Amino acid sequence: ASSIDALSKPTVWHEFSPLANTSNAVNLGQGFPNWDPPNFVVSSMVDSVQTPGTATNQYCRPNCHLPLANALADEYNERPSWSHLTVDPMTNVMSSLGCTQVMYCAFRALLEKGDEVVLLEPAFDIYGSQVILMGGVPKFVSLKTDLSGAALTSNDVFTFDFDALEAAISEKTRVLVLNTPHNPTGKMYSREELTKISSIVSKYPNLVVFSDEVYEHIVFDPEESPHISFATLPNMWDRTLTMSSAGKTFSTTGWKVGWAIGPDDLIKKMTDLQQWVNFSSPSVTQDTIARCLKKAREPYEGFKTFYDWLAADYKKRRGVLEASLTAAGISPISPQGGFFICADTSKLTFPDSVYEEESLSAPSPMPRDWALARYMTHTNPKVAVIPPSPFYSAENVDQAKNYVRFAFCKTDDLLDEAKTRLATID
Ligand code: GLN
Repeated sequence: ASSIDALSKPTVWHEFSPLANTSNAVNLGQGFPNWDPPNFVVSSMVDSVQTPGTATNQYCRPNCHLPLANALADEYNERPSWSHLTVDPMTNVMSSLGCTQVMYCAFRALLEKGDEVVLLEPAFDIYGSQVILMGGVPKFVSLKTDLSGAALTSNDVFTFDFDALEAAISEKTRVLVLNTPHNPTGKMYSREELTKISSIVSKYPNLVVFSDEVYEHIVFDPEESPHISFATLPNMWDRTLTMSSAGKTFSTTGWKVGWAIGPDDLIKKMTDLQQWVNFSSPSVTQDTIARCLKKAREPYEGFKTFYDWLAADYKKRRGVLEASLTAAGISPISPQGGFFICADTSKLTFPDSVYEEESLSAPSPMPRDWALARYMTHTNPKVAVIPPSPFYSAENVDQAKNYVRFAFCKTDDLLDEAKTRLATID
């Protein structure tokens, strides 16, 4: 119970958005787009609500609203890298309230008390906390961090320590969580890395891999660093739950539509369990996303598909923020995917008094990155950022001290204002 008590407090997300608001900061903190969803997404919602009959406005099947299951099966089955797999909409698709609740159902369905879950840190804070809620034990393996390169990219800075991964995985490991493109670093796991991981997990028949791919369509260099789903590697389908969601792709983070694609037995377990948690998920948002998934494959704003437009639009924003950071003397670690940039803040200074401030959620003592993130948000340059220390376990939190995370899922005017303010850093 004590570890669950430790979770009963606000999180970093509940500290920095309010702090950004009260400080009149440009909010490059929490990762949500500050624009409206595209017109075709909004009109799809109207169409869904107005469809007569019970399908869109009443309870849906416990596994997934059928049109969404069909649309997802089509979507994955048509991906060239998935061509050797067949996603059956009736048995291989489960949806819930965002990828977060999909993962909750998956952990709940699989973990017995004391089961271990291996997480690669920095790891999105929700993973480890969910494991603790289930009575499981998170085991952390750090990505190696090397900031010495001339031009910093997330794939070069953050690399795997395969010996450490191998050492952390054992018969007690029930789940390994992967995340590509990665939050917060923007790293995209290469085929070589995933292949090595697959050869490690192959030794453990009971080990299930969760692959969080919510940023899968925000990819900047698909030739050099393509998005690769772990499930598509040889023999990995049977042990992998591919998780994704609509929030980042369609700028609808508040709709909370997420899904898992995976083998019948795992999907059934999650579905059976979901009946006792939220019974089923909202039909209307799922129906809307089913429509969006079809439209997203059509030409959009001069691009071959909406997905191509989305990646190009984010690439432009990445360029703008990277230039502003470089000009301000904060070296960006260029992400290969996703909508965050981690940047080296080792040269920045701030008053010691920040460490003494009341913080809703900081660990004690307050880590450097946390204090700096607060100072950057409320005083100089009044740009809200997220400290990466919540993405680390207590023993490795020191690795977070010299960088912070900036979100670039923000409109031009906000990115412009951020540039002006970043230039005031002395
Ligand atoms: N995934 C988003 C981020 O990393 C939002 C996280 C959250 O609000 N829990 O910023």
